[in-house]
Amino acid sequence: MKLAARVSKVTPSLTLAIAAKAKALKADGIDVCSFSAGEPDFDTPAHIKAAAAKALDEGKTKYGPAAGEPKLRDAIARKLKTDNGLDYKSENVIVTNGGKHSLYNLMVALIDPGDEVIIPAPYWLSYPEMVTLVGGIPVIVTTDATTGYKITPEQLRQSITPKTKLFVLNSPSNPTGMVYTPDEIKALAQVVIDADILVVSDEIYEKILYDGAEHISIGSLGKEIFERTLISNGFAKAYSMTGWRLGYLAGPVEIIKAASTIQGHSTSNVCTFAQYGAIAALEGSQDCVEEMRQAFAKRRQVMLDRLNAIPGLSTTKPDGAFYLFPDISKTGLKSLEFCDALLEEHQVAVIPGIAFGTDYNIRLSYATDMATIEKGMDRLEKFVKSRI
Ligand code: PMP
Ligand code: GLU
Repeated sequence: MKLAARVSKVTPSLTLAIAAKAKALKADGIDVCSFSAGEPDFDTPAHIKAAAAKALDEGKTKYGPAAGEPKLRDAIARKLKTDNGLDYKSENVIVTNGGKHSLYNLMVALIDPGDEVIIPAPYWLSYPEMVTLVGGIPVIVTTDATTGYKITPEQLRQSITPKTKLFVLNSPSNPTGMVYTPDEIKALAQVVIDADILVVSDEIYEKILYDGAEHISIGSLGKEIFERTLISNGFAKAYSMTGWRLGYLAGPVEIIKAASTIQGHSTSNVCTFAQYGAIAALEGSQDCVEEMRQAFAKRRQVMLDRLNAIPGLSTTKPDGAFYLFPDISKTGLKSLEFCDALLEEHQVAVIPGIAFGTDYNIRLSYATDMATIEKGMDRLEKFVKSRI
């Protein structure tokens, strides 16, 4: 059987694969400490589940508009105005099957074969693959710890060519956890405006910030950048709703209409009653978001202290998301070898940096309970000591 050429160029999601492997080992009774998938361990808050259950009971079980329930699109537009200073109406918003699908819809709507999309590395592993799937060219711009894993305005400017269509910005970042400052965002916005390209801002970790870090939405910085901005976001991380598959894309009406047409011929609407849970998430109390953030903040400190006490690892302190990204180069192991051996010998699951475009790091998610963090760090320490 001959598969389409586009498929041969992409690899399966390593984050999902390693997380699934860790879950399968656990199901077999093996005591695995998993820091693999970026998935909050909390249950979805009760009022959100209750709203979805009520919608289900009330018979909200039919097809709905492809772009999403009007009430939810309105609620998202209001949220974008209140939280992010973005002047969108509901026609500027489409509800998608997770943040992942909002980005994929965007690539299908925007990218022609040969179009270039600038992606700073380390990157969330699905960005380049989505671009490749639609025939575009991912242009990877490497960053490192010296700039806090941030792309500089000069680097962005230099990577723009006449074929550049889109720049992918992700702050707070997966996998590094870094957060761009308002001044850094402003400088990047100016490059986007000067080059007259588009930017998609993936803001899925916007609520997960520490030590007074501030999230600023690039599109809020003025009319010229607003017109060139797409916002991708979702409910998975802030409200612990990973399995619900609920996200959204916001931006210029032409692009949102195109995404809606694509969705109308591919997935149709997102699960109707689940969308009522999303309305409750946005319109209900936000205390749950803050409670989870505070729990992440404690875990981050514990994991960071433990990592910093392991000779041979060097870890920067990130301001957002729920990942740490230690440099493992002193062990002499490539990231995949490191992760395979760690899982095999000590039953600790982490993600190799190579999945995110760098072979010198591993990613650990601390969206897991404190006992697992303590136990996993004991094991990691033993492993690293045995290798250096
Ligand atoms: N963007 C980033 C940076 C992510 O880490 C993820 C996955 N957790 C997503 C988008 C997509 O999330 P979801 O599809 O679960 O909403
Ligand atoms: N995005 C999360 C992660 O990076 C979940 C897995 C995925 O969607 O790839 O771990």
